[in-house]
Amino acid sequence: MSDFAVNPHAGQPFTDDDSAIAAALEDVSVPALLCSLVHMTGDPSWIRGEIRPQASVLNDYQSQMSAEMQAEARRLALPAVLAFRDGGCLLPPPPSAELAHEMMSFLGCAPVADEVFPMFLDDLHLDGADSGAITWRDEIPEAVRADAHVVIIGCGESGLLSGMRLAQAGIPFTIVEKTEGPGGTWRDNRYPGARVDIGSHFYCYSFEPADHWSEYFVRQPELRGYFERVMAKYDIAKHCRFNTEVVAATWDETSARWSVEVRSADGSTDVLGAMVVISATGALNAPKMPDIPGMDTFAGPSFHSARWDPDVNISGKRFAQIGAGASGFQIAPTIADDVEQLTVFQRTAQWMFPNANYHRAVPAGDAWAMRHLPFYGRWFRFLMFYPASGLTIEGARVDPNYDDSEGTAISATNAMRRDFFGDWIKGQLGDRPDLIEKSIPHYPPSAKRMLQDNGSWLTCLKKPNVDLVRTGIREIVPEGVITDDGTLYPADVICFATGFRHNDYLWPMTITGRNGVTLREQWGEEPTAFLGITVPNFPNLFCLYGPGTNLAHGASLIFQSECQVTYILSAIHEMLANDHRSMEPKADVHDAYSAKYQEEIAQMVWAHWSVKYSHFKNADGKVFTLSPWPIPTYWGWTRAVDPAQYDFT
Ligand code: NAP
Repeated sequence: MSDFAVNPHAGQPFTDDDSAIAAALEDVSVPALLCSLVHMTGDPSWIRGEIRPQASVLNDYQSQMSAEMQAEARRLALPAVLAFRDGGCLLPPPPSAELAHEMMSFLGCAPVADEVFPMFLDDLHLDGADSGAITWRDEIPEAVRADAHVVIIGCGESGLLSGMRLAQAGIPFTIVEKTEGPGGTWRDNRYPGARVDIGSHFYCYSFEPADHWSEYFVRQPELRGYFERVMAKYDIAKHCRFNTEVVAATWDETSARWSVEVRSADGSTDVLGAMVVISATGALNAPKMPDIPGMDTFAGPSFHSARWDPDVNISGKRFAQIGAGASGFQIAPTIADDVEQLTVFQRTAQWMFPNANYHRAVPAGDAWAMRHLPFYGRWFRFLMFYPASGLTIEGARVDPNYDDSEGTAISATNAMRRDFFGDWIKGQLGDRPDLIEKSIPHYPPSAKRMLQDNGSWLTCLKKPNVDLVRTGIREIVPEGVITDDGTLYPADVICFATGFRHNDYLWPMTITGRNGVTLREQWGEEPTAFLGITVPNFPNLFCLYGPGTNLAHGASLIFQSECQVTYILSAIHEMLANDHRSMEPKADVHDAYSAKYQEEIAQMVWAHWSVKYSHFKNADGKVFTLSPWPIPTYWGWTRAVDPAQYDFT
């Protein structure tokens, strides 16, 4: 037997026949297979020969290996996999850390730096242990834990994760969730075509199996189901108050506790006491409606993309989509064939990058490999994580010596990317110069969120019943949308895919800290938090996905949440183990971090002057939303609280 019983990543033993295994190998990622073979055989020569990945490229599961090289690898792999089966799927001793490092460098196509190696090793879970599991429960007396009630605001991926970890710590908690179930954004956003655009085998909890995904980038219902299953598995529902909204939270200095005011769907209110409040609201949960004259005069149904109304029948209707960011980019191609006329109003063109796997189902052989080949799934995850871990973040930095006066690129590398992505767009629109003109953005690539593309967006725009309108909107009238040039675009239904109040963290709640000051008063237009997590004057308040932690340079927000939850649980442990009632970051620590943050982010492409409209920017054009740090750097900072950086009472 393999080590499956002790390590779920070791692969379930299998007895499939030769031809089934040969067929399965046709579907796999060869680079990840070669690493799995090192586990199966104990022989490192699989990663030391001529057959090797050629370049680490995001979302390319074959890492630029030629078809011939892949075929040769499969031919050599088959007898080894059959021998592993015939030997009863017995695993030799696991690779040493040194060999694991070599395997990473093999997949990364370059030496993986010593400083970042620990993070990736930790994430691989080669020993089967959940490295983020909380193990200190019994160190803290039960009565102390019982008194440390935590209120978590929101039951999306990060709220659920917080609940799982607090349950392991034996700390009582309540998750207050405004909708009727878990999933957060993956519950709210049920518009047609909604799907994740970070690879699913990475966009999931590191400690949960990832062998079940049906597509490489799954659609919303599957993700929603995932969070429901995880909630059931960890028995979190009994801690949740669904259909209940947090209205306000107020810190009481005397008792050193939060009073959290909640309102249920029936309008009744309640106050929950808490030692700690964890904000797990997400940063993109409050829809932002545009302010267009006449919006309320429209005769037909209209709704925000995150409030898609499934009861509205759009078949055969004239459909106006206002906004074409990440949400609109998914809606239009999905509904174009269903509606009579689709008019897409796009204020700013979007950069998109090619991803052939974007709508691709996981083939049966790859699904089999994820389930059965030892650590194949973990190395597959690494294959996605490594190029998305922000190690190339320097490419997003504005080169002060580069002439950016045209506002189209921020460095020579960025200009090359512009050519590459421009060619990708032009290559699809060769016969439609009108659309090329409308579709090539005039700002630097990566300055807004890059969109994943398998050609579906531009294919959609070329359809005869689809119109891309780049002229500004003057007003909405009962019959449709009128643009600045006076043209009326008739519509039966309008969808506002206009994004979210990204800069308004915890909106519309009123969070009042020390001395009666609210978060909104303290922050104004410039939300900041130490590590994006803790805020001076707001003791025992911890933010997940808080200011300065959104990721435009890669990774997965679920991984980011795991970093932050590890940090928060360490903070709670610090308080309970030392009999502290509260903690907050020292003002000078917070201020130094914020200054460093602003110094960094201001140099990055997302803050570039050429981008007029961006939800990353605040009203003054400054960025307080995104992280400028490589993922391993942030991982290192969030391993544990440094007590020297906090004031305790
Ligand atoms: P968004 O990226 O902010 O896009 C909003 C769109 O509405 C843009 O085209 C914007 O134009 C337009 N718009 C906003 N206000 C307008 C106005 N007053 N008049 C005309 N046009 C207006 O919002 P989103 O598409 O909902 O995406 C938000 C974020 O959610 C993404 O960045 C991403 O982080 C996340 N998301 C992820 C996925 C995924 O994983 N697959 C899918 C959807 C969303 P401008 O560009 O000119 O501002």
